[in-house]
Amino acid sequence: MIKGKISEIFESIQGEGLFIGERHLFVRFYGCNLTCKFCDTQLNHFEEYEPQQLFEIIQQRRNGSTCVVFTGGEPLLQVAFLKEVAGRTKKTGFKNYLETNGSMPEALEEVIEHMDIVAMDLKLPTSTGMHGFFKAHKRFLEIAMRKDCFLKTVVCLSTEESDIDEMIRLFRENRIHATVVLQPNSQELSIRLFKKIDRFKNRLLDEGIATCMIPQLHKIIGVP
Ligand code: SF4
Repeated sequence: MIKGKISEIFESIQGEGLFIGERHLFVRFYGCNLTCKFCDTQLNHFEEYEPQQLFEIIQQRRNGSTCVVFTGGEPLLQVAFLKEVAGRTKKTGFKNYLETNGSMPEALEEVIEHMDIVAMDLKLPTSTGMHGFFKAHKRFLEIAMRKDCFLKTVVCLSTEESDIDEMIRLFRENRIHATVVLQPNSQELSIRLFKKIDRFKNRLLDEGIATCMIPQLHKIIGVP
């Protein structure tokens, strides 16, 4: 039987993105395929579960939550396991919410039928310190837009205007209809960073792209 590696299971308020403030049950998958320079996710340990075991824990801990968030790390690295668990939660009436770095479109294709919400990180090279993922993001979004989908992109002091140009091109050339959440790097909160985000936001709005700025609430108020 397939087993999944899970780092944490906890209930909290959603601290990011368009569903900020809602009570969600979080399942943090172990492991990530990227190395974003601003990453502060602690993935030092994991427990192994069979799909049915994890499903039963989710049911026990739901405490009124109707939405289960599969987060990471990168949940799509364990797509066969994710599919098994998400199939069970969906059947029971949970809303399935996937938080993903948007780099694995083939894996998304395998689970999209079970997802209700896809929150995709758009990885800007001058934010992450890695190469761009625009090609993978394009294919990923084509699949994700079958469901309720929005984008989050972390903006750092190092983020350059050229990445925003590339993002606008991605939207224009592929008829993408999804809201963009610009998320200030929590380690660099400052007037300088907010001014930069405001400039980027106005550029995206001028292009007809629905855009807002939302900081990571859970880090500000100190909840997991
Ligand atoms: S994709 Fe997310 S978990 Fe992975 S390195 Fe980047 S910020 Fe960290």
